[in-house]
Amino acid sequence: MTNEWKLINASLPLRDEAHLYTLTVRDGIWTEIAPQPAVAAVPDALPIDELSGSPANGSVVDLGGKVLLPGLVDAHMHLDKSFCLPQVGNVSGTLEEAVSNYSNAVPAFSKEEIKARIIRSALQAASFGTTAIRTHLDYHVRWGADVALRTIEAALEAQAELKPYVKLELFPLAPMFRFAEGHLDILEETLRMGVTGVGTAAHMSATAEADIDQLFKFAEKYDMPLDFHTDESDDPAKRTVSHIAKRTIDYGWSGRVTVDHLCSLAAMNDMDAGTLIEQMAAAELHAVTLPGANLYLQGRRDSFPVRRGVTRVKDLLAAGITLATASDNIHDPFHPFGRGDLLQIGLITAYAAHMGRPADLRTILRMITEIPATILGLQGYGVELGHDADFVIFDGSTPEELFTMVPERRWVFRGGGWLKLPAKRTGFQLPELDRKWAAAADKLAFGTPAAAARA
Ligand SMILES: [Zn+2]
Repeated sequence: MTNEWKLINASLPLRDEAHLYTLTVRDGIWTEIAPQPAVAAVPDALPIDELSGSPANGSVVDLGGKVLLPGLVDAHMHLDKSFCLPQVGNVSGTLEEAVSNYSNAVPAFSKEEIKARIIRSALQAASFGTTAIRTHLDYHVRWGADVALRTIEAALEAQAELKPYVKLELFPLAPMFRFAEGHLDILEETLRMGVTGVGTAAHMSATAEADIDQLFKFAEKYDMPLDFHTDESDDPAKRTVSHIAKRTIDYGWSGRVTVDHLCSLAAMNDMDAGTLIEQMAAAELHAVTLPGANLYLQGRRDSFPVRRGVTRVKDLLAAGITLATASDNIHDPFHPFGRGDLLQIGLITAYAAHMGRPADLRTILRMITEIPATILGLQGYGVELGHDADFVIFDGSTPEELFTMVPERRWVFRGGGWLKLPAKRTGFQLPELDRKWAAAADKLAFGTPAAAARA
C-alpha cells in the first residue's frame, strides 16, 4: 500500500533560502519539492514537535521553518576502534604513539568486541543524522591472517546488521611497511571478501611510492576506489600526495581516489603547497579534512609557535577540490573526544579553518552532505525529485542557528521511517534505533584508561 505524506514550511538552506518548501514523500522517495509563496497553513497539519511515530498516509507535518538537510555523510571514520580508549591510551598524544599502541593491542581484541564498537558508534552517528559512513579498518597482518581478518569479518557482519539504519563503506588500511612474504596474498583474499575499497597511510612507510603503486595495481585488478591517509604530518617534506596524483592520472582513476588529512600542506610555504594543490586538482583527487583529530594530534613537537595541523581548507576549496570534513576517531588513542556528530565537526571546521562568514557556513553544510556523498559515490542522494527521502531535521531555522546552538533535538528519517525522534513525553516509545543504540552502548561503558596509560 502506498504511503504518501507531506512536510510543509521546511527550510532548505542547500537549495534556496528565499522560500520555505512543501515536500512530498511517497514510499520513501521525494515526489514533490515546491517553494511556497508564503508560510503555509494546513488545518490538520501536525507540528513536528508532536510527532510520535511513522507518518500516516495523507498526513501533513509542519516544520515551522526548521532546517531540513539530506542525511549527513561521514567520509572518514574508524568505527572499529571507537571507544577503546579505556584499553588503549596515548600518553604523548602523538599520532605515532597512537598507531604503535593500537597496533600492539589489536591481537587481544575479539571479533565480538570490534563488532560491538562498530555498531555502537555507527548507531550513535545515525542518531545525529548521519545516513552513510566510510570507515577505515585496521589491518594488522603482521600478527597473522587471523588477527587481520577478524576486523574485516566483524565489519562485514556489522555492515549487514546496520543496513536499515546507516550505509557503511569499508576500507581496510593496508600495512604501512613493506609487505612480508605471503602478506600480499592475504590482502588480496581480503579484497575479495566484499570490502568497498582499500587504503593505507603511505607517508608513514619507508617505501611510500612502491606501496602506493601496489595499491593502484590492486585497485585496477579489483575495480575498486582508493582512499589514502595522506601526509598526516607537520613535516613539510611529506609529499606523497604528489605521487598519488601522478598514479591517479596514469591509471585513469580520477574521481575514485581520496586523500585525507593533508596536514603537511599547512606546514609548507604557499608556493610549494600551491604546486601540490594544482596537481591534486589536475588528477581530480577527492579530499577529506579531519580537523578534530588533527588539532589534537599535530603540533605536538612545536613549542613556539604551535601549529594547528589542519590542512589548507580554504585553498583546497578555492582550487575546486571536492573537499569534505569528517569525524575520524571517537574516544580512542588517536582522538579522545568526538561523538560521531557531523554538525559538531562542522563547527570545529569553522574554527580551525577560520570559516565563519555566512557563505562559509553554507559551504561547511555542503562539506558534511553533498560533497562527501560525491566522494562515497552515493546514488539517489539529496533532496531532489525521485531521490531517496533520507533526511535530518534540526531544531533551528538557519545555518547560523545550527552552528551557534548545535541543536540536540533532531528528527532522522531513512528507508521510509523515522530512525530518530527527540523524546519529549513520558511513556514515549523510543524508535528502534534508540533502543538498539542503548543496548550496544551498555556493552561498551566509558572508563578511565588503565593505570599505565593514565600518566
Ligand atoms: Zn583516519
